[in-house]
Amino acid sequence: MKRRIIRARALATEGRPLEDKLIVLSGKKIESILPATAAGRFDRRDFISSRSYLVFPGLVDIHCHGGGDLNTNTVAGLRAAAYFHASHGTTAMLLSIFFKSCDDLSKMAGLVKAARSLAPLHLLGLHLEGPYLNPVARGSIPSDCLCPVKLRDIPKIVQAGQGELKVITIAPELPQAERAISAFRKAGVIVALGHSMATVAQARAGADMGATLVTHLGNGMRPFHQREPGLIGAGLSEPRLAAEIIADGHHLAPETLSMFLRGKVGDMVLVSDCRWSGGSGEKPAVKEGAAYLADNTLAGGIYPAWKGLRTIASLPGMSIWDAVRLAARNPARVLKKRGLGRISVNGRADLVLAGPDLSVQRVFFGGQEIFRPISQPVKKL
Ligand SMILES: [Zn+2]
Repeated sequence: MKRRIIRARALATEGRPLEDKLIVLSGKKIESILPATAAGRFDRRDFISSRSYLVFPGLVDIHCHGGGDLNTNTVAGLRAAAYFHASHGTTAMLLSIFFKSCDDLSKMAGLVKAARSLAPLHLLGLHLEGPYLNPVARGSIPSDCLCPVKLRDIPKIVQAGQGELKVITIAPELPQAERAISAFRKAGVIVALGHSMATVAQARAGADMGATLVTHLGNGMRPFHQREPGLIGAGLSEPRLAAEIIADGHHLAPETLSMFLRGKVGDMVLVSDCRWSGGSGEKPAVKEGAAYLADNTLAGGIYPAWKGLRTIASLPGMSIWDAVRLAARNPARVLKKRGLGRISVNGRADLVLAGPDLSVQRVFFGGQEIFRPISQPVKKL
């Protein structure tokens, strides 16, 4: 099998970043990681470039509704949205959707199955944002995508998901929500708490029933109060809960972001919450770098996760290597996908090669180069 060799000025691995290395790719995998001084052992033609890059694992975005103004309700649209994200360094994503009906969920699960082998990233399945959410904290989610908990409907929702339903967001304070959390957990679905006015005690009760994640911490939830910190307080203090953050410069003030990250960097998960502008429901308008509904409700991000990685890396006290933990390793851990979000010998070669200014230069998915911005895309979609 033909080898390709990447020169790395620095690369993000599990522990500290490694400097001046060669990454040897063989097929879909990383065959070895060697010191740069071993370059003489190889044929010069095996090197992908004479340049040396900052090398990151492909990002894992677990909250993403689409992107690039593409409608994800068709296989072609979903594939194109996947390419938009892959070309910005995301090599694994969950597609987030609102709940319209079991039929719609079933259709979306079918779409993910059909698009999977065509997409230049791992389409990991679906994140269902609803329907058991608090109407007071629904944000931009249409009210007809919400409903009270009906326990007898849960098996139908799970079945409609056809094994593609990986994460569901639930407001833990709703009547019967605790039993719903437990039912989804038993069905193997990861439960996130969000779009919620939960008190800290209600959020903790959600964790008692098996919830392990908070959906976009600080957005779509009861504001923080010193004596009733709500879901924000639970997300920052409860060791059983990881927490998503949107770092697009709009959803969280930089000071809030710094405060959240100081709370528990090891359990924070960077997400894009990237929003498509097609599909049904009110079309959000893009202004000043985020999507908004007509009444000024913030309706998701417009940037891929890489933008958040750059934002986090620029915060005081944070490094790019902290940021990549939040954007790759932590989300993979939340989904229990051990092979993703890390660079290791014998691991998959899902890699982002960046310049010193953190611009994405080249992206490899399973050892295949899928993006190079200065020329035409290498892989034809
Ligand atoms: Zn949301």
